[in-house]
Amino acid sequence: MPSIMTRLESVRNQIQTATEKYRRPAGSVQLLAVSKTRPAEDILQALTAGQRRFGESYIQEALEKIEQLKGQPIEWHYIGRIQGNKTRSIAENFDWVHSIEKSKQLRRLNDQRPEHLPRLNVCLQVKIDDEESKGGLGPEQAAELVAQMASYPRLHLRGLMTLPAPSDTLEAQRRPFRLLRELRDRLATPELPLETLSMGMSNDLEAAIAEGASLVRIGTAIFGPRDYSAG
Ligand SMILES: *Cc1c(COP(=O)(O)O)cnc(C)c1O
Repeated sequence: MPSIMTRLESVRNQIQTATEKYRRPAGSVQLLAVSKTRPAEDILQALTAGQRRFGESYIQEALEKIEQLKGQPIEWHYIGRIQGNKTRSIAENFDWVHSIEKSKQLRRLNDQRPEHLPRLNVCLQVKIDDEESKGGLGPEQAAELVAQMASYPRLHLRGLMTLPAPSDTLEAQRRPFRLLRELRDRLATPELPLETLSMGMSNDLEAAIAEGASLVRIGTAIFGPRDYSAG
């Protein structure tokens, strides 16, 4: 199996190729390495190869790795489902949260974000193609939450995230990403430009970049297939 460094290099090349193909500005697409189910050693390997942003989906597992990697120059992103009783761990340990689905989660994260830390960066997760995508707010609900942000001084709303159902063709993959970008363009204000579009994974990275992704969340293509049975 190729090394993490080799895979990371190949993902960077894919991002650069798509950035040029779709005439996006150089450097306008950030890479989030999704390290869920992966041991801290894998994260260290990617870190050694220059990767700084890591995404986690399971809070207990993430907290263990954050502790093991304390002092390393890592930006931690929470991208998983948010359970009510887990908001404090998220507020205290992460730099970003991509998966906000409720107003209550904003309120709790705002109240629980420690004073000594900078504002917590958040994205609203939007269910863009109704039935199909996994989780998220409808476009109307997302608009309501954007309007509430002034009540949450400890949070910084950065943009929108989506996790569409998988599809096979580039055209089909582009559709939900295009809808997310259009929603962002409607909701953005001078105070909240919503510059972050968190969209695209290992299998639909090109489609996401074509439609304006500012951050792609890549797991398998960097770390290899996940084995959930290994625990
Ligand atoms: C697991 C996961 C990813 C990464 O998926 P890959 O197909 O392994 O690249 C991206 N985003 C979210 C929200 C995830 O849960």
